[in-house]
Amino acid sequence: MSAASRVGQGFDLHRLVSGRPLKIGGVAVDSPVGAEAHSDGDVVLHALIDALLGAVGLDDIGELFPPDDATYKGADSLGLLEKALCKVKERTPGFRVENIDITILLEKPKLGPYKPVIRERIATALGLEPGRVAVKAKTMEGLGPIGQQEAIAAMVTLLISLPAS
Ligand code: MG
Repeated sequence: MSAASRVGQGFDLHRLVSGRPLKIGGVAVDSPVGAEAHSDGDVVLHALIDALLGAVGLDDIGELFPPDDATYKGADSLGLLEKALCKVKERTPGFRVENIDITILLEKPKLGPYKPVIRERIATALGLEPGRVAVKAKTMEGLGPIGQQEAIAAMVTLLISLPAS
């Protein structure tokens, strides 16, 4: 019997509005605008949760944590990630995250100084060595809603391995 791998991908986007904090990958980013959302609006963690759920064939984040459920109002997305991980563990005991590749789409601020912190935060949350987590940031060259600083988005791809059965 051989071990199996599963790939997962996730995407998330939130509108940016003034008077909201900007959380990216569990890290508070200094910005005059933040994500409009029922929870803390952390696009990286939401895309990561969807990638994890998708890798094992579970329902998406909206099914797991319905936006009309008052329980999740203002929720810290690191807590949601923890809950999602429990679901994934129940579904696939012994699974291991091999690597995570994250792309953040944001016009401003430049995320250079935040990238190592985000990497560390996510690696810690998942019990991984930081070298298994990649964090990239792109602007949209001023184009479209992201380029016009009206939105932030993130894409996450990850690979998990399952024990031999
Ligand atoms: Mg979201």
